[in-house]
Parts: sequence; C-alpha cells; structure tokens
Amino acid sequence: MYCNYCGKVIQDDANNCAYCGKRIGSVIGRKRLIRPRADRKIAGVCAGFAEYFDLDVTLVRLVWLITAVMTGIGLLSYPIAWVIMPEEPATVEAPAAHQATNL
Ligand SMILES: [Zn+2]
Repeated sequence: MYCNYCGKVIQDDANNCAYCGKRIGSVIGRKRLIRPRADRKIAGVCAGFAEYFDLDVTLVRLVWLITAVMTGIGLLSYPIAWVIMPEEPATVEAPAAHQATNL
C-alpha cells in the first residue's frame, strides 16, 4: 500500500509510515467490535459480532440464543457486551442554526 501523506510504498500492516512517520492505521480504519446502528434487534450486539467475524447475523443470533437457553451464559453476556461494546458513531450533521451563530 501507499502512504496517504508522502505517497511512498510502505508495508501493508504498518501502523506508521517509515518515511514521513505519519500514522496510517487510523486512516484506513481497522475492523472494530462495535454495535452497528442498522440491522439491530435489541442492542446490535449480535450484529456487531457478525460484522466483526464476517458471519451471518442470523447464525450469530441463533448460536447466542441456544447458548442462552442451554447454559444461561448468553443471557449474562448479552448485557455485558451491550455495555462494553461501543456504539457505531452516528453520522454527524451540523445543525444549520449552530453554524449560523458561529459565523
Ligand atoms: Zn509517508
């Protein structure tokens, strides 16, 4: 891959450019375990896991539900995951009124 700042060829898994030292990892956006706002049934925990592990969300829900019924672990871990997993950031739209007061 190429550095977005200096355009030099750098390692694909590099976090920083070896030439200009700019941080690359955050620019590309690593896969994170977050709760997507779309495609959620309760809190988006299953959808988040499905997206992270590249699985079918229905399969994740099914496994989670079976685990919950059979062992009770799912029942306990869902609210924990709900609290721990960050929510997908909302698309920020600056209110027109706020912009006007700044000008
Ligand atoms: Zn660079």
